Amino acid sequence: YPLDLFCIPKHYENDLENILIPSGLITDRIERLARNIVQEFNEEGLVALCVLKGGYKFFTDLLDRIKMLNRNTEMSVPLAVDFIRLKSYVDDKQSGEIEVIGGDNLENLKGKNVLVVEDIIDTGRTMLKLLDILHNVKPKCIRVASLLVKRTERSVGYKPDYAGFEIPDSFVVGYALDYNEYFRDLNHICVINEQGKKKYAA
Ligand code: 5GP
Ligand code: MG
Ligand code: MG
Repeated sequence: YPLDLFCIPKHYENDLENILIPSGLITDRIERLARNIVQEFNEEGLVALCVLKGGYKFFTDLLDRIKMLNRNTEMSVPLAVDFIRLKSYVDDKQSGEIEVIGGDNLENLKGKNVLVVEDIIDTGRTMLKLLDILHNVKPKCIRVASLLVKRTERSVGYKPDYAGFEIPDSFVVGYALDYNEYFRDLNHICVINEQGKKKYAA
């Protein structure tokens, strides 16, 4: 969508190519994902594992929706939360190394139903690495919810259990997704332009 159709923070006005997914559409899609998740895990407890930092908006909005369903429908999923922090990107390039740079003791996930909540699957390498780490602590089951999945030839073929939107192969920001820590304070998911990349280069 053209930028002038929606509200954009003034400080990002010249740094974006277009709006790919307006925040209202994100909200609606998350409502549906929450419903699907509650149907699968009905009555069974779930540990929602937030992959920081990019996953934090999706995580809080998804959990709010699940909590709403817990209150207002016959279905109900007891929820616990946990956090893990991974880092892989500088500018719009993957740095090669995927690092776990923080989080709780993963041993707590042993025997639990774990729902990994991630912002975006690009090549899928970060998720495969994380799943490897998680399998070692022997959860009862692992499901992955990713808000975005990129259509890219660089994909290793990994597909998440719950996917919000399939997107084209461009670098996107907003809704907690960053470019060198900028643009997390933008509600819509947008494509960054060349000027934005230059302005906020590492
Ligand atoms: P992958 O290992 O699947 O190639 O990359 C996954 C991670 O890279 C994501 O969790 C995200 O943190 C980051 N990433 C990949 N593509 C994008 C993008 O278009 N925008 C932003 N902001 N981060 C991305
Ligand atoms: Mg991520
Ligand atoms: Mg990032």
